[in-house]
Amino acid sequence: MYAREIEEKLTELGIKVGDKIKVSKEEKYYEGILMPRSFYNPDVLVIKLANGYNIGIEWKNIVKIEKVEEEKKKVARVERKEEIQEKHEKTISILSTGGTIASKVDYRTGGVRPAMTAQDLFEAIPELREIANIEPRTIMQVYSESMNFEHYEKMAKEVFNEIKKGVDGIVIAHGTDTMHYSSAALSFAVQNLGIPVVFVGAQRSSDRGSSDAAVNLISSCLFASQSELAGVFICMHESMSDYACAVHLGTRARKLHASRRDAFKSVNAKPVARVLWREKKIEYLCKDCVNLRDKNKESELFANFEKKVALIKLHPGFNPEIIDFLIEKSYKGIVLEGTGLGHAPEYVMHAIRNACEHAIVCMTSQCIFGRVNLNVYYTGRDLLKAGVIPCEMLPEVAFIKLAWALGNFSEEEVKEIMRKNVAGEIVERILYGE
Ligand code: GLU
Repeated sequence: MYAREIEEKLTELGIKVGDKIKVSKEEKYYEGILMPRSFYNPDVLVIKLANGYNIGIEWKNIVKIEKVEEEKKKVARVERKEEIQEKHEKTISILSTGGTIASKVDYRTGGVRPAMTAQDLFEAIPELREIANIEPRTIMQVYSESMNFEHYEKMAKEVFNEIKKGVDGIVIAHGTDTMHYSSAALSFAVQNLGIPVVFVGAQRSSDRGSSDAAVNLISSCLFASQSELAGVFICMHESMSDYACAVHLGTRARKLHASRRDAFKSVNAKPVARVLWREKKIEYLCKDCVNLRDKNKESELFANFEKKVALIKLHPGFNPEIIDFLIEKSYKGIVLEGTGLGHAPEYVMHAIRNACEHAIVCMTSQCIFGRVNLNVYYTGRDLLKAGVIPCEMLPEVAFIKLAWALGNFSEEEVKEIMRKNVAGEIVERILYGE
């Protein structure tokens, strides 16, 4: 609630949170949506401007306030399937799963929530109609930090069904926080992929003037329909500017910034392409890193994930009881994020040796760049002797891969699979500074 005097005035004028209002302040005036009060100052009126930013205006400085328009009430949704025009050569699907890209501001709470469907996204960006025949579908509405292996299983099955329908590409609108976990999950779950599956998100919700959703979606749809490459990718802003989007391999990227538009970077690799969306052009940066598009390929689905898998960060003072606890709880796989080349404190060795007797234990590095190498120090060699599998890939990719391998293959096969390249995840060559 605003201060009592403000609430009384708003009631007298019939203004509610969510209505469009005009507020005059001596010579200036502002037009925007009335927002709930900021929690620390009830005497400041908060309005959201058309550019997406909120401003606060001190009540004592306001000379006039008027209602411009009532809050738009939600209208019943009608499925407008018949609007899909078969006018392009290529057909792609947009599967929406939630995240900021499918969110809008809830004017009651002032917070952003995932309330937009794939159809809403499609309708909000007219340029998408010029790219391909597009079939938008909402498959879930979840923030990506709340996802679990069941969500990956569902996503993989949905993607597989779209492939069977014969689409030329698939775009998955997704929350950015854990997009790289999902892209890794799909990279493993759908094998022998002949088309591009492109994850896309946004750092600002789609209803904000400053949103990056439109550029990212246009670019990902261009890549999904026109690219010569096949596989699972992430397509997001290349830099802070709207000029181009970068396309990263789904097993090589990570969210490296909490809020910037260019949050995603390829790690120990180059992006595979960039999309110059205004020119409708794709520039390939690493064509031979990835398979080429081939719609005749028969994809195979391996959509099971073992849930009893953990990702553990080792650090000075690490308590080995954490590893003992996982074994007591019958965990089948443990991915360790070691220090440096993949090291563990010596006093944790006993717990690791015991864990190797009961579960598959993999070692990755918490360094972002470089490789795991357990041969340099005797401590690393001890880990190898105990049965720890060195994994030359991002820790979160190793985690997803281990859950996937344990979900679909025998223990002996899993040990082999963790050592070999399945979806471009293994770092073979280091590109420093990339
Ligand atoms: N934390 C939310 C998610 O990952 C929103 C963040 C985003 O989409 O950028 O789904």
